[in-house]
Amino acid sequence: MFKIKTAIITSLLSMLILTGCSQNTIALAQNNNSVNATYDINSFLPQDTGVVENTTTTNENQNTQSYQQTSANLTVNYIDIGQGDAELLTSDGHSMLIDTGTPESGSKIRLFLQKQGVQKLDYLVLTHPDSDHIGGAASVITNVPIDTVMMPDYQKDNKYYKGLIDALNYRYINPTIPVVGQTFTLGSCTVKVLGPIRKYDDPNNNSIVLKVTCGNNSFIFVGDAEEEELYDITNHFGAELDSDVYKVGHHGSHNSSSESFLRYVTPVFSVVSCAEGNSYGYPHAESLIRLRSIGSHLFRTDKQGTITIKSDGANITYDPSPCDNWTPGENTQNSQSSFASTQDTTSTSIVESSQYVLNTNTKKFHRPDCSSIADIKEKNKKISNQSRDEIINSGFKPCKRCNP
Ligand SMILES: [Zn+2]
Ligand SMILES: [Zn+2]
Repeated sequence: MFKIKTAIITSLLSMLILTGCSQNTIALAQNNNSVNATYDINSFLPQDTGVVENTTTTNENQNTQSYQQTSANLTVNYIDIGQGDAELLTSDGHSMLIDTGTPESGSKIRLFLQKQGVQKLDYLVLTHPDSDHIGGAASVITNVPIDTVMMPDYQKDNKYYKGLIDALNYRYINPTIPVVGQTFTLGSCTVKVLGPIRKYDDPNNNSIVLKVTCGNNSFIFVGDAEEEELYDITNHFGAELDSDVYKVGHHGSHNSSSESFLRYVTPVFSVVSCAEGNSYGYPHAESLIRLRSIGSHLFRTDKQGTITIKSDGANITYDPSPCDNWTPGENTQNSQSSFASTQDTTSTSIVESSQYVLNTNTKKFHRPDCSSIADIKEKNKKISNQSRDEIINSGFKPCKRCNP
């Protein structure tokens, strides 16, 4: 499946080179909404030999030529908002924003919308109510007209969620809970809801999952969906998951991008949205290894800033080019003693002055330098100055990795 897709894209790239780029350049130049309306033809070229496998498939060229007749188009901006997610999709003057980053991201996103000439959103999709996804929502909802706000059926008890609900009430917007299998249009594209298939305990697994199809190209967005949700989606949709571009789940966390899921998606391109030097160590090595092993090309907002990927229904173009930088955000070389270097300064100073780190969810406790601390969610992480015995007496078990 991947090979065929690769061959098609590759032959398209070569066709572009052989036949000249005038058609493409015109199409792109007309769209002044994009970050870089004028593309360098070199940016269409694959940057290494990973994609170039076949340059002489004439039949495929002819097939794809007919796709080019369609007027479908889509621009996806994976906005660099630091540690979080925010993607702006535009097609034929219609727009959809998926997630709004952290509370600090609101004004940045609004400025970005302004620069793209987006004065109104057809859809705002809030994949799940974690603060790195709904953080800027109140600011966006209050200031930008929106037709439809989509949220999963999952509430969270924090000030950002409350702020979001207040903003919705202020604008008299009744959020919609999308139904799995439902489709709707965005300009010349079709959006299909793939998840969440059922209700899960934690917010990440309740992420709204969408596949956006533009002619012969497709983009998949999974929010922070982890193994549980991806497992159900894989079982339910199977081959339908096949997509050209994958917004990497959960910022490249090890518990997302499951192998079985990727086997069906087989993305030619994958985009990780995270902050440089983030305290979670994203993207994790395990996730990067899985993406690399299926031959996907990698974009990263932490290394490249905002990533713009376009489809005209047949060709995928991008700016900048994939970085294919497979260096994980976590410090894998000396993880036992390098906790401090993978954490932000605030959490480091807290940890250094204490004795143990508790995971209130798993009821395990760790030494401050244990490598598994990077995997504990902030909400479950607690620093304790209590003695070992006191911690054990209050129901915690020592971690088997660091043996506190
Ligand atoms: Zn997230
Ligand atoms: Zn999350």
